[in-house]
Amino acid sequence: MANRHERRKNIKLGRAEIVRIDDFINMPSMCAWEGCHCTTSNADNEGWSKMVLYTGKTRTNFLNIDPRRIARDCVLCPEHARYLDEHLLKDIGRPLRHLEGTA
Ligand SMILES: [Zn+2]
Repeated sequence: MANRHERRKNIKLGRAEIVRIDDFINMPSMCAWEGCHCTTSNADNEGWSKMVLYTGKTRTNFLNIDPRRIARDCVLCPEHARYLDEHLLKDIGRPLRHLEGTA
């Protein structure tokens, strides 16, 4: 079964594929970083980060984001989430927060 990255690529190329929601949720995820081939079967428990890039009105609940406004919806492996924060985003005076176990 294709991972999310491959599925998005298929969509861009106009290749249609019907997948059950349960299967989609359980599909492995690939880091969105160009050139990175890291994948995970559980992006929720392995330190992976999720990134939603959207325009329009600011929403505090991502479920309220208009899907037509979402430019990217992806995951980053721990290494590239850290690299993004440390090298590409403005310094906020601290590293990424470690959020595991705070829920
Ligand atoms: Zn990566």
